[in-house]
Amino acid sequence: MDFTTRVLNTPYNKSDIHGALRMPVYDTAAFEYPDAESLEAAFLNRKPGHVYSRLTNPTVEHLENIIKEVTGALGVISFSSGMAAISNTFFALVQPGDNIITTKHLFGNTYSLFHKTLKSFGIKFRFADLTDLTSVKGAIDKHTRAIFLETITNPMLEVADAGALSEIARENKILLIADTTLTPLYLFDSKKHHVDIEIISGTKYISGGGTSTGGIVIDYGTYDWSHSEKLSNDAKKYGHFTFIAKLRKEVHRNLGACLSPHNAYLQTLGLETFALRAERSCANSLEIAEWLEKHPKVGKVNYPGLKSSAYYNISQKQFGKYAGAIITLDLASKEECFLFLNNLKIIRRATNLNDNKTLALHPASTIFCEYTPEELVQLGVSENTIRMAIGIESARDLIDDINQALNKID
Ligand SMILES: *Cc1c(COP(=O)(O)O)cnc(C)c1O
Repeated sequence: MDFTTRVLNTPYNKSDIHGALRMPVYDTAAFEYPDAESLEAAFLNRKPGHVYSRLTNPTVEHLENIIKEVTGALGVISFSSGMAAISNTFFALVQPGDNIITTKHLFGNTYSLFHKTLKSFGIKFRFADLTDLTSVKGAIDKHTRAIFLETITNPMLEVADAGALSEIARENKILLIADTTLTPLYLFDSKKHHVDIEIISGTKYISGGGTSTGGIVIDYGTYDWSHSEKLSNDAKKYGHFTFIAKLRKEVHRNLGACLSPHNAYLQTLGLETFALRAERSCANSLEIAEWLEKHPKVGKVNYPGLKSSAYYNISQKQFGKYAGAIITLDLASKEECFLFLNNLKIIRRATNLNDNKTLALHPASTIFCEYTPEELVQLGVSENTIRMAIGIESARDLIDDINQALNKID
């Protein structure tokens, strides 16, 4: 069955007593039991049942079940945001002295999580060029636990070869972890590319119009946990379910960054139209990127679906014709970028990605404002770059808006 058919037909664990056609929102903190024995059984996981919504909740579980159904994954756990999903994953997987191979060209807060927050817990991040396999192999040592990539990096829009990275990971018995926020589920098949753990910020495409924050961790069940120094003991008890058990029974529970039932409801609703919205916003992006390339005021246009992109071939191979919906374009200066942004009429000046509305911003002065000019160079963020997250309006209306704003620059 196709992606959307499966999203729409994932059954509830228990049908609603009123026969509601949609999973109800169980906005409750706790669940009552008829006797002490059944409450004990629920606490001990001897019987399926919810006890407290920080741990599990029926509406949240329904979202997780849909994602399990469409991915064929071993386990899915949702979080209050994409950052919560990433940080919980690393708190579950690594211990002081371990290192992770990644790139500096990451979503800004992820870089900050690695470079500042986790660093202070003794976790090291080794920054390599993930599009250069020799650089990746050279960075691995006996303390390396994982390779972490973004399928399309934000905002550099680099595309690494996930299949090739997975081979390196398997040869070294380490994990391949992919943040697929820019190309989740329908747009990139993590299972086919041998990703062990997939992380998605549900705030973006899945929420269905920037309605809510959320994060998802998907375990494909492909890693042999006896190879994990931190988790090999748990592996004796939990086998394939080691990581899911560690998260569910400890890290997710103790850090408390659970997805709220209402946001789970919004994200379930979002998933139902995700494929439709993704096709439209990706097709819009290609049309706009091709148009921008011909505009005299515009310098470099970056979009992995463009033939001029250094990542065109790998992008076609991994994502097919829908190469995400983020475009960057270079103008001559920061002043020109601001002039362009200030003259946009339909396109909104806002952060966030994969809203239904098209959003534009100047990354250097916003999401990367905490970094020095030297750090910005290292992170690959230029003062002359605009990022546009393309929505589902008509491409013609968007091009007209971009055109009139570009023409205000003289
Ligand atoms: C937005 C984003 C995140 C963080 O997600 P939040 O839901 O904002 O916490 C992580 N990775 C990527 C690639 C993102 O774009």
